[in-house]
Amino acid sequence: MTTPSGQAAAFDALAIGTEIQRRIGVKTSRDEPLGRFTTIRLGGPADLFAVAHNAFELRKLVQFARSRGLAHTLLGRGSDVLIADAGIRGLVIQDRAEGIEIEGRTLVAEAGVPMARAATASQVAGLSGLEFGLAIPGTVGGAVWANAGAHDSTIAAVLARARVLAADGSEGQLTPAELGLDYRDSRLKHPGPAGIPEVVLGATFQLEPASAAEIKERLEEIKRWRQEHQPLGTPSAGSWFRNPLPDSAGALIDGAGLKGLRIGGVSVSEKHANFLVNDRKGSATDLRRLSDRVRAEVERRTGILLVEEVVYLGDWGDWQPEAAA
Ligand SMILES: Cc1cc2nc3c(=O)[nH]c(=O)nc-3n(C[C@H](O)[C@H](O)[C@H](O)COP(=O)(O)OP(=O)(O)OC[C@H]3O[C@@H](n4cnc5c(N)ncnc54)[C@H](O)[C@@H]3O)c2cc1C
Repeated sequence: MTTPSGQAAAFDALAIGTEIQRRIGVKTSRDEPLGRFTTIRLGGPADLFAVAHNAFELRKLVQFARSRGLAHTLLGRGSDVLIADAGIRGLVIQDRAEGIEIEGRTLVAEAGVPMARAATASQVAGLSGLEFGLAIPGTVGGAVWANAGAHDSTIAAVLARARVLAADGSEGQLTPAELGLDYRDSRLKHPGPAGIPEVVLGATFQLEPASAAEIKERLEEIKRWRQEHQPLGTPSAGSWFRNPLPDSAGALIDGAGLKGLRIGGVSVSEKHANFLVNDRKGSATDLRRLSDRVRAEVERRTGILLVEEVVYLGDWGDWQPEAAA
């Protein structure tokens, strides 16, 4: 998430880091390598990096950056992003706000709670609805942003409301309709004309009671399915392209004979064609080139233009996508 203002030239990371520590009490680090904060394990450094441990710190860090016009980028678990090898200019805030509360049939989570933890916490409470979270290695905030979904469910199906810090600094509880949740989409992906993204601070899920055995069976089924179908254990960002409904991106890529296609240290997974994997310590540049190549080849063969589900973050310079031959 990057504000249009606050360019790198005016960015004094040392002074700003000192001010953040003094005003908000959050330590920062400079030139922090970001690859380890992503599931694809790629990407260069952040000029300045801070971890928010609760919603208060998250709110304060975002408000601080906005008030200074500082470029700032929010990271959850980095499971739906590709960060440029040149890194990210300005402040990167990693959301580790992981408070979680269950009352009756309601689960309230801060935005940094991993979806898998939301799934297991609701299991322990005998509540059903969030089992699909086990398949999503991201945070509640990232899942609301994406309207993440798996195994016939989505965030939209269980979300009662999300607490959102608006671009104007106000805070509100938004319903799924107000969030514009749609297939892997939400209004959070489309900042207004000022380009200041909204931030999810937390979410409230409405769940249904179910027997422990029923929930356990569902979780095990999800685990089995993933192990069978996804290249787990090899760094990836999950499904690389959106499904051009009613088609499946994986089927189109497979049909174009692109499984195993390699550029440098990255390749199209042999197990799941819509997973691009960092299997030999590649670079972000390799991966974006591979993505361009796959998109161009699928378009050439089928006329269908795939669109990335993953977002590119950071300093990509003047990237020129490969055109269909
Ligand atoms: C192996 C694997 C399997 C996957 N399977 C699925 C699947 O089955 N279904 C599915 O939908 N997705 C899947 N994904 C993709 C990914 O896990 C989800 O999109 C997830 O919701 C992203 O959350 P994150 O915290 O990692 O977000 P990040 O990747 O850290 O961030 C993604 C974007 O969200 C923004 N963001 C993050 N937190 C917030 C916040 N609090 N408020 C506002 N914006 C925010 C970031 O700025 C960034 O632009 C998979 C990924 C992997 C690696």
